[in-house]
Amino acid sequence: MISERANRVKPSPTLTMDTKAKEMKAAGIDVISFGVGEPDFDTPGHIKEAAVRALREGKTKYTAAAGIPELKEAIAAKLLRDNGLTYKPTEIIVSCGAKHSLYNIFQAILSPGDEVIIPAPYWVSYPAQVLLNDGVPVIADTREEDGFNLDPSDLGSLITERTRAIILNYPSNPTGLAYDRKTLEAVGELAVKHNLHIVSDEVYEKLLYDGAEHISIASISEEIKKRTLLVNGISKSHAMTGWRIGYTAGPEDIIKAMTKIQGQSTSNPNSIAQWAAVEALNGPEDFLEPMLREFDRRRKYLVTELNATEGITCMMPRGAFYAFPNVSGILGRKGPDGEIKDSSDLAMYLLEEARVALVPGSAFGKEGFLRISYATSMENIEEGIRRIRGALERLQ
Ligand code: PMP
Ligand code: GLU
Repeated sequence: MISERANRVKPSPTLTMDTKAKEMKAAGIDVISFGVGEPDFDTPGHIKEAAVRALREGKTKYTAAAGIPELKEAIAAKLLRDNGLTYKPTEIIVSCGAKHSLYNIFQAILSPGDEVIIPAPYWVSYPAQVLLNDGVPVIADTREEDGFNLDPSDLGSLITERTRAIILNYPSNPTGLAYDRKTLEAVGELAVKHNLHIVSDEVYEKLLYDGAEHISIASISEEIKKRTLLVNGISKSHAMTGWRIGYTAGPEDIIKAMTKIQGQSTSNPNSIAQWAAVEALNGPEDFLEPMLREFDRRRKYLVTELNATEGITCMMPRGAFYAFPNVSGILGRKGPDGEIKDSSDLAMYLLEEARVALVPGSAFGKEGFLRISYATSMENIEEGIRRIRGALERLQ
């Protein structure tokens, strides 16, 4: 028998789409995958070397559940260097990817019925993780006309006695939105006033374009920092998705509770990956600039081509590696299996008819949109656009 808890959530739509695309490829079908968000670059050589060294040196045993001291120090140094934030090692925990960091946070801060405010469009796993931890996701919708920006007074109207936390994700998956200082200040003020935690997911911090600068909400004031759980990782910044290292910095009591939970569930993150992460954070970052330049080139090309496609409009994302085009102009048209009613029908049609895998906006809490990851080669993007246009022209 499956638990009531497990039945609360559906499988991750991003991972499901990726699995589907991989299965089609394995079956010899030529699919272009815009589905999953993971850099198509390889992990830099010096980081791999550090892992090989750790392996040779026998760093193959359990470590402290919250991570090796060397990695916590490297994280503290990074947070000071990049974000102007000072954290002690007891205020940091390393987990098995930022996704696991988030899960441990909700385990540590939510009691049954506690509410968490989640701005939409949101990354697919936030509501699911809140539900799995007996919480109640409260969705704060935003509008494309406002660039999906948060309206602090809208947020304020959603706060109740049960509200425990608000999740921020910037640069955003799926919209690429990066909040400005004024918005972050207003959200911080609300959190202080209502005694809420801010779960600040900054995994796309390094992927910002047009000279935009990342501001960590915890750096705005000591009062805000005291209630912020800053989540970051190396999956996106260092092309290390498979290594599974993420981390949280925040108030000592919550980090302690997360450490207890981690110690009773997964124990430490992989020891070799932790040593690789030390090198990722302490070592040179010269690979970042060319990676960013390439993402930027693809971003501009993809968004321009989407806007030149009949029925589609697309905002220029400021960060991350996703475009989030508005496809409401296409809904209602007819395909071989009947009317394309929503983004999910359209994603399915494009997978079957164009052999292009992408994720429907509904998975991110926003109907009428699609998410396209441009963390794939320029050739794939060019061919993908050709296929999408061809398939859309066949709709009636
Ligand atoms: N947050 C966001 C917004 C993401 O897009 C991802 C990517 N899966 C994660 C967290 C988790 O990243 P990871 O577990 O690979 O560190
Ligand atoms: N963050 C990526 C995405 O949104 C990876 C998949 C996942 O972890 O959900 O596609």
